[in-house]
Amino acid sequence: MAVRRGLEVPVVERSNSTKSVSQAIDLGRMQPYSIGVASASVTLGKHPPLPIIALICYGQTYGLWNDFSPFFSPFMQLAPFFPLIHKVLRPTFPTCLWTGDANSATIALTFDDGPHPTHTPQLLEVLDRYEIPASFFWLGACVHRSPHMAQEIWQRGHWIGLHGYQHHSFPRLSADELKQSLAKTQEAIAHACQVDLAYVQQNIRDVRPPNGLFTPQTLRYLQQWNYRPVMWSVVPEDWVRPGIDIVTQRVLSQTCNGSLIVLHDGYCGGEDVAKTADRLIPRLLDQGYQFVTVDALWQQAAIGVPVVKT
Ligand SMILES: [Zn+2]
Repeated sequence: MAVRRGLEVPVVERSNSTKSVSQAIDLGRMQPYSIGVASASVTLGKHPPLPIIALICYGQTYGLWNDFSPFFSPFMQLAPFFPLIHKVLRPTFPTCLWTGDANSATIALTFDDGPHPTHTPQLLEVLDRYEIPASFFWLGACVHRSPHMAQEIWQRGHWIGLHGYQHHSFPRLSADELKQSLAKTQEAIAHACQVDLAYVQQNIRDVRPPNGLFTPQTLRYLQQWNYRPVMWSVVPEDWVRPGIDIVTQRVLSQTCNGSLIVLHDGYCGGEDVAKTADRLIPRLLDQGYQFVTVDALWQQAAIGVPVVKT
């Protein structure tokens, strides 16, 4: 396991052996997007299979299965369960953005955990070629580490959101730590993109929780601080690298009007992101979909949260 912490960012070499809980969480190696598992337990209880899925997701997130990874590896790919989890959690947490308008053939391509010095440039080349707007949920530490990459994305006009300074699950942070994590990421963005900090603080307020984990209290904090929680509707689990064909097939089979698709251009899964995007985008365009930003989905969704000024 190679974990370097030179710039406060967990820089990770992929490995099949994760030795500690904190490493598992830092790595973001296991991001089950099992959002609100604990807090939604009452709701989940009404759906018999879901508590079991939730237990597996919870164990993955907190690294409980690491020592048994050879045994559990067949279960590690949770992609088939995400549509089911989405159906339950979306109505449970209606103030989050889960999708856009079901009557509009618009979809959003989003990328978490970047910017990355190697993977992101390859992705940008693909997005440029198809002239596709995308949305990036950045880790502040990665922005700090690759400021020029952040600036390139910013200058291209892609939509930017926050993913925390480091890849720490929000429920594990105190209110002050969470607030600082988001504020510090905004500062990193302002510095990297050479934009006035006040502008960033006012305009970059979309937040996607790392590992998909939050609690109702997390959402109250975000709302209190005027952030907008952004979730997902299509999660092909690209971070475990099941193969470009499988990721592509998962996205194509699940995408519909208003879909909010999650891919990764960071240290887990980013190796394949450009090729995946290159395969997905033309096929989705052929199906008649128009790519829009997360902000456009917010406006379609009309959830009734404060609208970010542009
Ligand atoms: Zn992430």
